[in-house]
Amino acid sequence: MIVGDRAPRPVVLPSGETPSAELAGMTIKADVEAIVNIAKESRNTREVGGGQLWGRITGLPSGTKAVTWSADQFRKAGIADVKVQPIAMEPNARFWFPLSWEVRLVADPAFGPGTADVVLDSAIPLGPSDIPGGTMTAPLVYVGSANPSILQHVDVKGKIAVQLTIPQGHMVLERGPVGSRADDLVARGAAGVFNLVRLPGNERSRDFSDCGNPCFNIGGRDGHFLETVMDRAAIAGVADKLRVRLTLKTETRTNLKAENAVAVVPGKSDEVIILDAHVDAWFDGAGDNADGLAVLVALARHFAKPENRPERTLVFVASAGHHSPGMNGPRNFIAANPDLAKRAVMMVNIEHVAQRNFSPARTTAADGYRLALADSGEAPIYAGITNRAPFLDGLVQQGVARYGTNFVSEKSNMSSGETGGFSTLKGAALLTIMQAPPLYHTTGEVTDVISTPGLERMARFLAFFVKESGKAPRAQIVP
Ligand SMILES: [Zn+2]
Repeated sequence: MIVGDRAPRPVVLPSGETPSAELAGMTIKADVEAIVNIAKESRNTREVGGGQLWGRITGLPSGTKAVTWSADQFRKAGIADVKVQPIAMEPNARFWFPLSWEVRLVADPAFGPGTADVVLDSAIPLGPSDIPGGTMTAPLVYVGSANPSILQHVDVKGKIAVQLTIPQGHMVLERGPVGSRADDLVARGAAGVFNLVRLPGNERSRDFSDCGNPCFNIGGRDGHFLETVMDRAAIAGVADKLRVRLTLKTETRTNLKAENAVAVVPGKSDEVIILDAHVDAWFDGAGDNADGLAVLVALARHFAKPENRPERTLVFVASAGHHSPGMNGPRNFIAANPDLAKRAVMMVNIEHVAQRNFSPARTTAADGYRLALADSGEAPIYAGITNRAPFLDGLVQQGVARYGTNFVSEKSNMSSGETGGFSTLKGAALLTIMQAPPLYHTTGEVTDVISTPGLERMARFLAFFVKESGKAPRAQIVP
């Protein structure tokens, strides 16, 4: 992955727009760094096992820190009504954690002189993998895309099946195929599954689950290496000597505690617009969702100023999010605030909003794996509007013209991620502002891949959007 010296294209303010310092890109970027630092602390203090997995994890101290930080920002913005509301994990929910692990290719004299073990550092186990006794050694078999037309020729019994997935975008859209093919592999007797995830770089990716027990994701370059090794072994006639030793220690936790931070900026009307960003993250989570949370905080600062007093009441939710089982932020927000929920005419979910765009580069790494390169813009952004209100779509369109936000060209009613927990708000328009970049849920989502002008474009667009929809009659938002 390459982030070159050339900066993203700058923000050009529409004429007549007040430059409001709280919406400046540098200010928001500093908050992204503060939020990412909470995750880095989770890594340094080995919050989860040996520290191979970290994040802002709802149910653990890092999640609480992210919510507390958000509540502090709301208070510092001058908002009087700020609450930290407790969440108890649902009694039957279970949270699987991988504490430590290793995927080791085992050397064999058949591979020639100098043969040595190789550890695949990008490997990560997926829930709820478990290895009784903590270790297993098994032969490997390559199954490519694992279609039935391939598998009819391959004996996977007792072997780790190595399947290849090439996400076009991010891993979300591959969850279905990866899972069902893993089921098929297990039904055919596979002892476990590796998913070679052909994404930029060599990142650990915390995505997919229930994909064969045990099941591991392997990063791009390690996957490329493993394919090359398996090909060479096949050509040399020693493929049967290829074995892998897996070690894995896990833990399942219950009855954890979490929080939402909720800040209310009273408007001239009783009707409510909810603005939500989830605080939880895997790894550094700069794009999922430090950028969204930092933009939410910037908007809170903006609308807390007396001169920007909103028409409708604004409710800012720094949400426990949706990664941790049984502790859903939006559902708990609605349960704890029935009155605000009842008055809501709209909910805006700010989720993954300013990550830079990456495309395949003309160059490859030394091992032949293609590099990915950032350009001058942000990754494509969906603006899903559940009720497809033309007025709201019109505002999104103006966002492209006024601020250069990279909204995709097709109107959409998608709702995903955090918005799922708001689906019971029947009378409200639900908006999902969301990118689908390739580094999503991977260790590659670091501060460097966030566009500073992109943060400002999004914050200014949303300030405009909230102001304009605040003035609009209810019938235009919920036709
Ligand atoms: Zn997210």
